[in-house]
Amino acid sequence: MSESLSSLDVVVSLAKRRGFVYPACEIYGGFANAYSFGPYGVELRNNIKKLWWKMFVNDRSDIVGMDGPILLHSRLWEASGHTTGFNDAMVDCKKCKKRFRADHLVEEATGKDMEGDFPAMNEALRLIPCSSCGANDWTDARQFNMMFHTSMNGFSGDVFLRPETAGAIFVDFKNIVDSMRVRVPFGVAQIGKAFRNEIVAGNFIFRLREFEQMEIEYFIRPEEKWEELFEQWLVLQERFAVSLGASTDSIRRYEHPKEKLSHYSKKTIDIEYKFPFGFKELFGLACRGDFDLSSHAAASGVDLSFRDPETGQSYVPHVLEPTFGLDRSLLVTLCAAYHEEQLEKGSRIVMKFPFALAPVKVAVFPLLKNKPELVAKAREIFDMLKTSFVCEFDDNGNVGKRYRRQDEIGTPFCVTVDFDSFSDGAVTVRDRDTMVQERVSVSELSSYLSSRLG
Ligand code: ATP
Repeated sequence: MSESLSSLDVVVSLAKRRGFVYPACEIYGGFANAYSFGPYGVELRNNIKKLWWKMFVNDRSDIVGMDGPILLHSRLWEASGHTTGFNDAMVDCKKCKKRFRADHLVEEATGKDMEGDFPAMNEALRLIPCSSCGANDWTDARQFNMMFHTSMNGFSGDVFLRPETAGAIFVDFKNIVDSMRVRVPFGVAQIGKAFRNEIVAGNFIFRLREFEQMEIEYFIRPEEKWEELFEQWLVLQERFAVSLGASTDSIRRYEHPKEKLSHYSKKTIDIEYKFPFGFKELFGLACRGDFDLSSHAAASGVDLSFRDPETGQSYVPHVLEPTFGLDRSLLVTLCAAYHEEQLEKGSRIVMKFPFALAPVKVAVFPLLKNKPELVAKAREIFDMLKTSFVCEFDDNGNVGKRYRRQDEIGTPFCVTVDFDSFSDGAVTVRDRDTMVQERVSVSELSSYLSSRLG
């Protein structure tokens, strides 16, 4: 987390004010902790996705991408265990009717993780007052299935919006093996929406009911030394967090205790980030054995083993599952970038996004709005740059105000055209982080910006 960030509220307010994230359906009073991503938010999200795809698909020869549907056959969710087991513990205050995650309530009050242990949670709840009305009158904590149910024309069975993207990868395992020349070990990566009817959503975009995941299923031989690969994946996940702008001391690992693991999981570690509301899960990594492929093979009757073309050996691969939340990545990027700085005169808020993620790379200004020759020259430079960099033309207010606005958007470089530009053929380039200004000739501007942006 950035040193300057004292609370999540300042990020929420900047995100709205500057067109990153808006509360959804605000004109109708808002809707269920849902958010829209504004013009800069969508650029930032796309840049995070591009960075992820490049790092985990394009830069590697052992991972391929895919994009599966959101609506999938209900038999998939039966086989994966989601229909019966994708539950969270829910409890209601009988007095004010407010609903809570029982395990979260208990953990906040006692510091103990009692997830799954309903008698213990109910016992603990007897001593915990409702944070909304102060009463101490709870229903019993009970299981709540988090899948969103819907229906589909021409299909009589249950239809759910997928609660994770991974399922689509497993059911296309055979197609990928048959159509691509993949050899174990190999991975399949996917980015897409997932839906969970969370009992309590909140902390801005940390916990949403509609969110986006970036997931990889990495298939390995059953006898592979998975521990080494597991460690490598953790390091890559941490590296990705750092590339979002997170400092190394703001991330840590949390290993799920053995007794809390699902029966098939050999190990699960969360990468946690120090959000303004505490260390919370950012990414997860699990070693899932052959549970997924074997369950889908058993339920579908289709052989999902892999036949090694060299050895002729046939086996059901085991899988490591590194999973990344896009919305939580975006929140990290916003929190880590947020800086408040005291200046000689006044102060500024500046979003120090890593350059690769900044939604706008270059802003072009005429020094004065009411001088047509300056405006025309600035437009010409904007037109020259805009096909190479995401650029913005700004002639509103004075230059100082434009700098403040671009700082809050996190634009790495501002280019100003002034009267000297006509005599020296140069413009002033101002650096977002140092605020240092330098004169750069227009003929070298593109290559200068390319090399500075990296
Ligand atoms: P949590 O314990 O916070 O509910 P989880 O362990 O259920 O998360 P996974 O099933 O491992 O999460 O999902 C993979 C990733 O998807 C998480 O690491 C997180 O980044 C993201 N994610 C999960 N649930 C949500 C949500 N409700 N809103 C936003 N992102 C989410």
